[in-house]
Amino acid sequence: HAELYATVVSEDTEQQGYLFVFRDRTEEERVDEMKNEFISIVSHELRTPLASVLGFIEILLHRELPQDKQKKYMETIYKEAHRLSNLINDFLDLQRMESGRQLYHFSPINLLPTVQDIVDQWQDKQNHSIVIHQQEPELWVRADADRIRQVFHNLISNAIKYSPGAERIDVYLSIENGKIVAKVQDYGLGIPEEAHDQMFSKFFRVDNSDRRQIGGTGLGLAIVKEIVEGHSGQISYESQMGTGTTFRIEFDQYQLSSMDGKIVIFED
Ligand code: ADP
Repeated sequence: HAELYATVVSEDTEQQGYLFVFRDRTEEERVDEMKNEFISIVSHELRTPLASVLGFIEILLHRELPQDKQKKYMETIYKEAHRLSNLINDFLDLQRMESGRQLYHFSPINLLPTVQDIVDQWQDKQNHSIVIHQQEPELWVRADADRIRQVFHNLISNAIKYSPGAERIDVYLSIENGKIVAKVQDYGLGIPEEAHDQMFSKFFRVDNSDRRQIGGTGLGLAIVKEIVEGHSGQISYESQMGTGTTFRIEFDQYQLSSMDGKIVIFED
């Protein structure tokens, strides 16, 4: 961005040239862009659930209702408030990552117990049976434990949500060509071809009639991609409509040294 700052003249006021000031506006433009995006999200995504929360509270406050109806309305309020809270958390997470303010706390992580833990949490809450397949006894990656959990949480959550008729989800952990590979396979709705370019874009949701009832923010996969790339990893998927989807992530293997996990005190 350049601005004409002054015209340079000599003593006899004859014009000699111009003085320009150059300013790098990249950062300012990026902040402006983020503000605009936030405003458009607040207006589109947050207003609707908030209006519904307010509407139902108003009814509860001003009308005499039978108890079962009261309960139903309160459940709706709870669901919508929960959705708002998820949306805000996801959005802030993503914003932090995209702006480079997300600091990763890397440490050696053994993938199996981490994934097992997430699977156990999901197992209690829904009807699919989630099976982990692992050939290697241990798989170590250098990763941020909380963020890696978020990756598997989101992928398994999607596998469950988008395979309403299926009973099973398979998770594979292995080494391929020296890399650590994790796959989450479902036998659900699949991803239509026209969605392939946008799957990892923010707020993108497939708008097919088969999944209109399924809740979500469209931020889950964008977050997964940011985290995987923040770990110098890669993400891809294969999918067929009506058959199912497999998400695949790949990380460098961490070579565990004999020092890991030990406190070593050096003395002269
Ligand atoms: P959300 O699930 O909140 O909509 P995501 O970013 O996690 O957002 O996913 C974006 C879209 O991709 C979803 O709306 C869904 O239609 C599609 N999708 C994601 N995972 C799967 C899957 N395992 N099977 C079928 N479709 C999926």
